[in-house]
Amino acid sequence: MARYIILLGPPGAGKGTQAKRLSEKLGIPHVSTGDMFRAMKTQDTPLAKRVQAIMASGGLVPDEVTVEMVEDRLSQADAAGGVILDGFPRNLFQAEALDALLEKSFGGQVNEALLFEVPFEVTMQRIMSRATKEGRSDDTFETALRRYRVYLESTAPLVGYYYANGLLKRVDGVGTIDEVTTHLMDVVGALNGQ
Ligand code: AMP
Repeated sequence: MARYIILLGPPGAGKGTQAKRLSEKLGIPHVSTGDMFRAMKTQDTPLAKRVQAIMASGGLVPDEVTVEMVEDRLSQADAAGGVILDGFPRNLFQAEALDALLEKSFGGQVNEALLFEVPFEVTMQRIMSRATKEGRSDDTFETALRRYRVYLESTAPLVGYYYANGLLKRVDGVGTIDEVTTHLMDVVGALNGQ
């Protein structure tokens, strides 16, 4: 049975880093819509330029574009056993689109939503230190603030959505990378009945 796991949490919560580790442990791919959009940077198409401008501002790429991209990715052979979704869904529309898509095209459903809980100050510190280390152009202070606000307005309501569906699991996202991995594996291990 394919397993679809969603990672929720504010920007800078460590979802990408932890998703890679979880992907290795579970043997299913890490699908990051942010990484996919960043990869469009090298493309010289009108859509790629629009996506770049939106990312630089900290806003969200239109749902239609995003959902279609995810649908394509989930159709690839390596996703047959499920995926870890990082950065998607980002709002209620995308969450409902994902549910419909999984049911209709993949005979599956979201199995768990893992919420990385990190205070505002910690997320801002992490984003700013990532900006220095990785030089990501969407990691300026202004953009980080806007992304946090977009998270609160658009993405945070998903916590209630998945909680109501009985799928929400909380992960303490504070600590070193290894410490957070331990918190994460405790939660996932419990889900696997280990
Ligand atoms: P992330 O790496 O997940 O923080 O995403 C970086 C940026 O990519 C976001 O600030 C958005 O501009 C865009 N993005 C990523 N995922 C989505 C999504 N599911 N819906 C809309 N925009 C997204």
